[in-house]
Amino acid sequence: MALVSLTDVTKSYPSPEKGGAPIVAVDSVSLEIEAGDVYGIIGYSGAGKSTLVRLINALEPTTSGTIEVGGREITAMPERELRGIRLEIGMIFQQFNLFNSKTVRANIAYPLQVAGASKAEITARVDELLAFVGLADKARSYPDQLSGGQKQRVGIARALATSPRLLLADEATSALDPETTQEVLELLKRVNREFGVTIVIITHEMDVIQSIATKVAVMDGGRVIESGDVFDVFSSP
Ligand code: ADP
Ligand code: ADP
Repeated sequence: MALVSLTDVTKSYPSPEKGGAPIVAVDSVSLEIEAGDVYGIIGYSGAGKSTLVRLINALEPTTSGTIEVGGREITAMPERELRGIRLEIGMIFQQFNLFNSKTVRANIAYPLQVAGASKAEITARVDELLAFVGLADKARSYPDQLSGGQKQRVGIARALATSPRLLLADEATSALDPETTQEVLELLKRVNREFGVTIVIITHEMDVIQSIATKVAVMDGGRVIESGDVFDVFSSP
């Protein structure tokens, strides 16, 4: 069974002009992401990638179609249940989205506090995550004392805090130089291999897909115009 399954999903926004045609950000998308996949979604800016990720994370409702996560349909789920689903999904961002007034430790602890973990549990889990991302010596630092690569490693640790099954990465390396990009991608590969976390990685960069993804969907104008194994999709004439 697929971990994430989209069936004929459409998301449209009202036109910015009175009486204008709606903006169809995601147009009749069907795709299946299997547990354990590193699934790339590639396309130009405006293709609908970010919208698709917000729909999977249930941050916005679909206009039509259904989305299942872990076999449960999220499209009609009440907010209270969606909160449980979101604990199973971690997310990382291009601009890291860290709390600049909190230390590295406090940033990583935050989702555990929201989930109601005990102080002892939080300390143990954060220590484990700091070691995993190689930032044990930065626990007391603040985000603006860190490099871009270090900030994204904090972002990854925070996203993993509640042990999600799925990690959504939205242009997570787009603000980083090529060398740092490779380091972050290597870390994401370890997240996939060692923890069995399924990763969905959105990018406009082919290099990122080729260095990490096993499956890929190519988006254009809100539609998935091609999908399958990375090798098959990019070797076709
Ligand atoms: P991508 O992530 O591939 O760059 P987006 O999902 O951000 O694409 O955007 C797809 C299209 O939907 C774009 O035309 C964008 O302007 C539009 N769009 C995205 N979010 C909104 C929104 N909240 N309101 C109106 N239009 C939106
Ligand atoms: P990206 O495409 O790189 O994700 P954008 O600058 O397109 O970034 O979008 C950033 C935010 O602005 C998103 O949360 C998106 O929903 C919103 N957004 C994008 N396009 C529009 C739009 N045309 N109208 C309103 N909000 C939008």
